Amino acid sequence: MPRKYTRVSKRRVGYLVGMKTWTVKGALALVLGLACMNVLQAKEGMWIPTLLKVVEGDMQAMGLKLTAEDIYSINHSSLKDAVVHFNGGCTAEMVSAEGLLLTNHHCGYGQIQQHSTVENDLLTNGFWAMTREAELPNPDLTCTFIDRIEDVTLQLSRACVGLAGEAREKRMQEEMEAIVKRATAGKGLEGRVVAFDFGNSHYLITSRVFRDVRLVGAPPSAVGKFGGDTDNWVWPRHTGDFSAFRIYADADNNPADYSADNVPYAPVHHFPVNVDGVKDGDFTMVFGFPGRTEQYLTSDAVEHVITRLNPMRIAMRDEGLAVINAARASSDALRIAYAAKQSSVANAWKKWKGQNRGLTELHALDKKRALEARLKAATGSAVVEDLGALNAAYFPFLEARALFIELTYYGPDLLNYAHGFSGLIEGAVEGEKRDQLLAKLRANEAGFRKDFDAQVDEQLLGRLVDEYLEWIPVDLTPEGLRQEVSKAGGGPAWSAKVFGKSVFDNADAMKKLLASGNAKAWGKLVKDPVYIWIENLRAHYFAQIAPEYGRLRGEIELASGAYTKALRRAFPEEVFPVDANSTLRLTYGKVEGSAPYDGMQYNPLSTARGILQKHVPGDPDFDMPERLVELLEARDYGGYANEEGELVVCFTGSNHTTGGNSGSPALDAHGHLVGINFDRSWESTMSDILFDGSRCRNIMVDIRYVLWVMDVFAGAGHLVEEMTLVTQEGGTE
Ligand code: ASP
Repeated sequence: MPRKYTRVSKRRVGYLVGMKTWTVKGALALVLGLACMNVLQAKEGMWIPTLLKVVEGDMQAMGLKLTAEDIYSINHSSLKDAVVHFNGGCTAEMVSAEGLLLTNHHCGYGQIQQHSTVENDLLTNGFWAMTREAELPNPDLTCTFIDRIEDVTLQLSRACVGLAGEAREKRMQEEMEAIVKRATAGKGLEGRVVAFDFGNSHYLITSRVFRDVRLVGAPPSAVGKFGGDTDNWVWPRHTGDFSAFRIYADADNNPADYSADNVPYAPVHHFPVNVDGVKDGDFTMVFGFPGRTEQYLTSDAVEHVITRLNPMRIAMRDEGLAVINAARASSDALRIAYAAKQSSVANAWKKWKGQNRGLTELHALDKKRALEARLKAATGSAVVEDLGALNAAYFPFLEARALFIELTYYGPDLLNYAHGFSGLIEGAVEGEKRDQLLAKLRANEAGFRKDFDAQVDEQLLGRLVDEYLEWIPVDLTPEGLRQEVSKAGGGPAWSAKVFGKSVFDNADAMKKLLASGNAKAWGKLVKDPVYIWIENLRAHYFAQIAPEYGRLRGEIELASGAYTKALRRAFPEEVFPVDANSTLRLTYGKVEGSAPYDGMQYNPLSTARGILQKHVPGDPDFDMPERLVELLEARDYGGYANEEGELVVCFTGSNHTTGGNSGSPALDAHGHLVGINFDRSWESTMSDILFDGSRCRNIMVDIRYVLWVMDVFAGAGHLVEEMTLVTQEGGTE
């Protein structure tokens, strides 16, 4: 029998109008699950949506009222149709029939920053479009819906029968291209074949990519980033980490480039919002695009992470953050310019610290070694030794690559900016291509300058290059760099020289150059010290590091595939989940607290009381707008409070998540939205490498707090009205 939902207006929801009702399909519990796992334990695993039948019974035993087919179907609309890959890195969810989506504040942060100026500071003040016309376009922002996921492993292996080495690779590529072409041609779809489980299986994934996505609303950072770096990766949490966007489509509801004529996209499905929210022990699932886990690193690789890789990356970021944080504290303009960069640098920096601590506390090395020894005893397989030999050769290249990334992507911005001109400088592009490149560089110029400060960048280069030289394996150091820096008297002095003679950091000179398009003038930049330096560094990286890194990585993938295969074969009664790879996955668990340390017990729910307790006027992480303080002190919860009269702000669950799950819908047993996933607790930061069900908890912002901020705090109740609100009063099947 269908479950009935009553109108929200039965509740004391003072600020809402125009509520709708919603009825979920009948959901008979088909106990077909093949995986008999302990229902009381947090669940490891990010499940591929097409394979949910395997865990359907287990999910239903934990409380799910839907079937696997309700979650993912290619025959009719299902939950997957409301899940969005947001800009390729985060997740978002559709919450209205008119293209409205929710994601994290930290996922929309770059866009919010882009629209911010000192005079109109959306980061500080928040932003709410009160009309559709006021919504803000974001060139380059994309939203992707998954059309279909299909296992093509068999097809590929059939195509490659009898082939090996390069011939096999070539044939495999051809077959993948053919598969994608057949699935997408003339259908307005994009497609790719993705390797899972180190290439043990391959899936075709077709999708629809929308390109007109507008900013609709964001709370002030004092809500969306409340707690700042201090609270990041920490429970208890009181952050309203959400923002709202709207997808626009052409008149036929298809993806289109930005146009004022576009109309709000009508999604195949949008999530009803459960205004009753959650309580301790409720079933939850998180549906999104987890980025990357590394659960099959062998013990030597985990040891390398703990003793070398994380320490060097943390040290590089210590230097970068010292510069960026000081700059941001010195002026409003720099605070805005370096907001997104600071967040992205600080986020992984803090995670790696927690990861090292967690891996050590959980005796990760002993656990990994024990598993490896069990495999050896059971099968005699030499796969772990093979991996060990490969890893020993691979680690120096992995380090050199990580340091290159830290220096060029998380360090000074001028390096990649200068490299962007190489086609013009070297005269390598001509004719129409040259015009296109010039047009692109001209278009990007204002955006680049808005968030750039030459002094900050110069300091970043100076401090990072010193740190880089501390860690880079001696025989992989770019030739002459050590001597050059030491001759100048160290990184900062060397950097001052490099920047001092460059024109790339000079906005006026670059503007003139960009306007002129004069080939000769461009050619002269070949002698620019910043250009010379980044080109040399890149040349060194692509000649000395990337090829060997890539070759060894390929071999490690193959050996890791053999390792996971061997584990599954040797221990068929155990579950060895497939690593995350930025594809759509479902994870499930419960609203659940944890007790990570002796004498410590975390509740799963945090409330608005805690916001007031944390409030420190004038503190960059814990200050908040007066209006917020007043409303919370008055307990003006506008009908969004729970049965105890408290406004729930965040909650934790035992869902296995990772980066990329940021912004993912947290769903209840009926597939209704109860929160937005945004983080993990400090004691969970090692879960990408070693998941521990007793202490790994994901953190979600409660949907009631999201609605309260929109409706009561911001006065944007029209957005709440657009949603389909449901309650579960008296609902029985
Ligand atoms: N806060 C995280 C992130 O930045 C989400 C997570 O990793 O759990 O991606």
